[in-house]
Amino acid sequence: YTIKAILACLDEEPVLNAYQFQFWDWISQYYQCPLGDVFKAAIPSGLKLESQTKITKIEEFEAKSPLSKTEEQILQILSHSKDVSISKLNQSTGLKNTLPQIKALLEKGAIEVEEQITRGYKEKKQEFIRLSNNFSEEQMGEIMNELKKAKKQQELLLSYLNLSKHFFETAPLKVGVSELLKSVNSSRSILKSLVEKNILQFYYEQIDRIDFSASELSESKQLNEYQTKALAEIHTQFKEKNCILLHGVTSSGKTEIYIHLIEEQLKLGKQILYLLPEIALTTQIINRLKTVFGNKVGVYHSKFNDAERVEIYNNVKQNKTENSYQIILGVRSSVFLPFQNLGLIIVDEEHENTYKQFDPAPRYNARDAALYLSHLHQAKTLLGTATPSVETYYNALNGKYGLVQLFQRHQNIELPEIILSDIKEARRKKQMKSIFSPELLQLMETSLANKEQIILFQNRRGYAPYLECKSCGWVPQCPNCSVSLTYHRYNNQLICHYCGHGIHPPTSCEHCGSTNLEDRGFGTEKIEEELEVLFPDARIARMDLDTTRKKHAYEKLIYKFENRNLDILVGTQMVSKGLDFDNVSLVGILNADSMLNFPDFRAYERSYQMMAQVSGRAGRKNKRGKVLIQTYTPDHPILRNVIENDYAAMYANQIEERQAYAYPPFYRLIQIVLKHKDQNLVNKAANYLAKSLRKIFGVRIFGPQAPIINRIQNTYIVNILLKIEKKSSPAKAKWILNQQANFLKEIDQFKSIQIYFDVDPM
Ligand code: ADP
Ligand code: ZN
Ligand code: ZN
Repeated sequence: YTIKAILACLDEEPVLNAYQFQFWDWISQYYQCPLGDVFKAAIPSGLKLESQTKITKIEEFEAKSPLSKTEEQILQILSHSKDVSISKLNQSTGLKNTLPQIKALLEKGAIEVEEQITRGYKEKKQEFIRLSNNFSEEQMGEIMNELKKAKKQQELLLSYLNLSKHFFETAPLKVGVSELLKSVNSSRSILKSLVEKNILQFYYEQIDRIDFSASELSESKQLNEYQTKALAEIHTQFKEKNCILLHGVTSSGKTEIYIHLIEEQLKLGKQILYLLPEIALTTQIINRLKTVFGNKVGVYHSKFNDAERVEIYNNVKQNKTENSYQIILGVRSSVFLPFQNLGLIIVDEEHENTYKQFDPAPRYNARDAALYLSHLHQAKTLLGTATPSVETYYNALNGKYGLVQLFQRHQNIELPEIILSDIKEARRKKQMKSIFSPELLQLMETSLANKEQIILFQNRRGYAPYLECKSCGWVPQCPNCSVSLTYHRYNNQLICHYCGHGIHPPTSCEHCGSTNLEDRGFGTEKIEEELEVLFPDARIARMDLDTTRKKHAYEKLIYKFENRNLDILVGTQMVSKGLDFDNVSLVGILNADSMLNFPDFRAYERSYQMMAQVSGRAGRKNKRGKVLIQTYTPDHPILRNVIENDYAAMYANQIEERQAYAYPPFYRLIQIVLKHKDQNLVNKAANYLAKSLRKIFGVRIFGPQAPIINRIQNTYIVNILLKIEKKSSPAKAKWILNQQANFLKEIDQFKSIQIYFDVDPM
């Protein structure tokens, strides 16, 4: 290739630090994805470089040979405007590709081509005005005199002098333009005249998009007896272990312990990363942290716009002493921020699967990546949860991690009473009111009468999971994906939750023509609607993906509920995670079975975690709460574990199964995913690859198998699963997988197959 010239040096300091290079490298190796994909995920898009080719007409150009029509046209366009890009030329000429003409014009010396490199991020600047010279009092007098005939200009200048306190020696000299114009009710054109006369000049300064306004600080809370003990144990164990699991029941005050640990790190001048699984949670925790740490704590997540993300990124990188974030509270992508000297990473609710990125690459788990990041900085990691993941608990029991337990809720409030409601029985007796059992309705009425709040949990958004023909059973499917369409009432649409495809609901069955179509099942939207009928006086709101798309939607809902301006909150798993409300006396889980029956080896573990977590929202502060779980299978062992709050029993069963069926933590899983629009071809490729992998890995290879949803956006998906013993080298296995995938891609017919790896899939 030909070496290109360096066009410009854009930064005085590098955008990345050495830790990041190492971290990216590890992510790329461990999660088997190209470094470029890590780069894309790690750098805010505002900092990425875009190169653009700019074309300008040479003014003194005279054609020596005749030009083609398009060439003429291009020169015409260029003579009107400067610095035109190729895509703009394509657009204006209506041609697909003007590159040949551009080349010809370049050879004929008609145009100049320049490559420009830009960055998406633009600093936010504020406009000020100041004197263009250090005028003496005498000179100023002369200027005023000259302005006698321009009364408005004189008035403006006087006002400027007044505002800038020009005649007080130590006073500032610059004044905000808008502030100045407002003060005398003057106009910009008058100001411009003063600038043209070289009396005043404009002046710009960068301002932060991030709000650093100071707030009142208060001391961190005094830890209670149990918390104090737990904190001491954390200190002791950190002497030997780099990672500790803090297993503390909901409301035991784990967050207060984190706050104390953060205080200690700040005293050492270290940075702290506090990871949360969900944006919704940052809203509540940030307020608690701000009261103690003020502007030292900043939030980072995807609802910030590009420019804001760049500023947070730069702020963390500079690690200044003033207006600088020492503590970052963020979701999984915060592991990519340019930390300089991390002292501690807290991974709150470590069991949550939202820490794992499914799509696109890098398919990393921020909890696991945090451990490596910590290692790079020689920092410590604290994993906190009331319901540890089986893998983490195993590591803690086996001494790989430290283990600190906290089983006493703050102020010894009892864990909620959990009641099962057998909906099979209630249906048989015809006692159900839509999706609500009589027991649930009874409890809801009591809570409402006591002016207490209620949370209802249903893990399906939309109105109804599907529409069905009552005559023949036909269900409208997404044309692009192998799933049924979900009915959304608010916009009267059937929507695919995988590709977003939406249609108006059909009025008759496509199969038999019957007009008897009925919605089936319950999504959060329908539950909200039914509640409005059942409890017309209650104030009801819904929290799910559909109601929280806007930037501040979470905050608004949470504040409303916190301030008791809502009685009932219906939601998906968003309402289950770590939110802390003090007036919730009842939590209802509307359908426990759909979680339990989910076909995944983690389904029982997840169901336990989900139910225990949602239950944790009930009865905080001063009163024991109640949880009602509706189920068809009241004897299910997991429901027993939930009722008895017996994490250990759940774990004991699960770990036995994991061992028996060769799953984590005893085996490592790597999913090999193949995708193509042609189903036959992708099956053929998967069979071929599985066969060659079997020759190497033997019985450790499973599949090929189509996932439950085997077609998304008209692309077919096939999986092959590799299970490798924990003690064998994953690096070697990964190397072989890459090699075999490359071999497959070298076969002509399989060239267009898309292959990627999902390491530690969830
Ligand atoms: P967890 O994170 O374990 O769910 P939290 O830290 O949210 O528990 O604590 C639950 C509630 O109890 C919070 O409202 C918190 O402010 C309060 N709390 C916990 N510990 C203390 C303490 N030592 N002093 C005063 N309030 C506390
Ligand atoms: Zn039909
Ligand atoms: Zn679809």
